[in-house]
Parts: sequence; C-alpha cells; structure tokens
Amino acid sequence: FSGKTPGSVLAEKLHNIKVGEIKSVPVVVPEQCSVYDAVVTMFIEDVGTLIVVREGGLLEGVISRKDLLKTTLGGQDIHKLPVGVVMTRMPNVITVEPDDSVWLAAKRLITHEVDALPVVRPVRDDAGSLEVVGRLSKTNIARLFVELGEGGG
Ligand code: ADP
Repeated sequence: FSGKTPGSVLAEKLHNIKVGEIKSVPVVVPEQCSVYDAVVTMFIEDVGTLIVVREGGLLEGVISRKDLLKTTLGGQDIHKLPVGVVMTRMPNVITVEPDDSVWLAAKRLITHEVDALPVVRPVRDDAGSLEVVGRLSKTNIARLFVELGEGGG
C-alpha cells in the first residue's frame, strides 16, 4: 500500500479510469423528431437526456426532461414542434471524450449543473463536427462510486 492515504488512492483511481470504460450507449433522435416523439423515446429508453444528431451521428444538441416539460406548458402542438427548436444547441453543449478521466466528466457535470454529457470524438477533416460515441450521466458516476466502495472492503 506504500504509505498512500485512502483519499489519494481514490483520487488516483478517479483520474486513471477513463470515460470510455464506464460510458453508456447514447440514446439519439434526429433534429426533426417531434417533441411528442422525444417524450415517448425518453420513457421507452428510460433516460433523462436525449442527444440530438444529424446525419452520420454528428452532435447537434441535447434535450432534457425540463426542456420537454417547459415546452408542454407553452401550449404549442407538440406533435408538430421539432426538438431542434427547444434543444440546447451546439456550440453550447458540454461534452467529454472517451480518453478523458471520469474525474473530469464528474467535474463538468457539477460545474455546468447538467445530468449527462454526450461522449464524442472530433471528426477528422471536418473541423467542429463531433461524432457521438456514448453518453455519460450522473448514474454512471454513482455506479462507479458503488463499485469502488465495494472493492474497498
Ligand atoms: P433536467 O432538465 O432533467 O433537470 P439537466 O439539468 O441536465 O436536466 O438540464 C438542464 C438544462 O441544461 C436543459 O436546458 C438542457 O437542455 C441543458 N443541458 C443538459 N445537458 C447538457 C449538456 N451536456 N451541455 C449543455 N447543456 C445541457
């Protein structure tokens, strides 16, 4: 154990474990998807955040539970309203990459007060485009926390 405190062991782990090791499959919808269909997808897929993509799985935006709730209060026809109108759009989306540490991901979730981050890879020869390869939510962090705790005995 080489004189390390439990705190420094945990810190080292959190910086060594990569987002790619604990990420989930992304749940995505196209920008033309209606608010109604987005609500249905959220229930069916059991997630709190949908990632909005264009052709090729490239990141366009994210839509959360509150975005959808707010929209339903607006009195518009949610069967006709596309999610592109109400989502948080690029370049305002906070993301992480597979090789980033889980500590950095958790830090971004807390700093930006969001529940989930799209996990992305920059597209070569297409500056500014990000390919969506996963989803990292507070649940992934909590699950890792439980696993680390179990290992600690
Ligand atoms: P909820 O609406 O369920 O509380 P969040 O706290 O994650 O979920 O979302 C709050 C706001 O932040 C919403 O308007 C949402 O579109 C936006 N948001 C969610 N995730 C991100 C992200 N990764 N980057 C930027 N904005 C986000």
